[in-house]
Amino acid sequence: MIMGILMKVEFDDITISTRSRTEVVDITSRVEGTVTRSAIKNGLCLVHTVHTTAAIAVNENEPNLKADIVRKIREDFPAGAGWAHDRIDDNTDAHIASTYIGPTRIFPIRGGRIVKGTWQSIFLLELDGPRNRQVVVEIMGE
Ligand code: ZN
Repeated sequence: MIMGILMKVEFDDITISTRSRTEVVDITSRVEGTVTRSAIKNGLCLVHTVHTTAAIAVNENEPNLKADIVRKIREDFPAGAGWAHDRIDDNTDAHIASTYIGPTRIFPIRGGRIVKGTWQSIFLLELDGPRNRQVVVEIMGE
């Protein structure tokens, strides 16, 4: 053991049913609920989706902005652009978007709350829906 550090780990699995092929889903309150239930006051909160065609992002929950994010994902990662993997299951655009955006984000916890700006919300980005998605929330601290 290094020094006398006592670290607690709590976790929760969140299931989300998405409704569109590409969708921005606000999961902030679900993640915050997990942090509250963990009773961890200071530490880190890791938010991770266990899929190759979804991602986690942080931004403002404003309807026009969410539509713009969907538009930009579709523009930057176009479907049916002659991708090799499309010969297998026709969703390469979603895999590439997930690869670039990433499945994991991490947040500080102070005083039992996630540290984030007023306009920051935590999003699950559905990139190949609609489907049931799993998000793992892992909280480490004291
Ligand atoms: Zn695929």
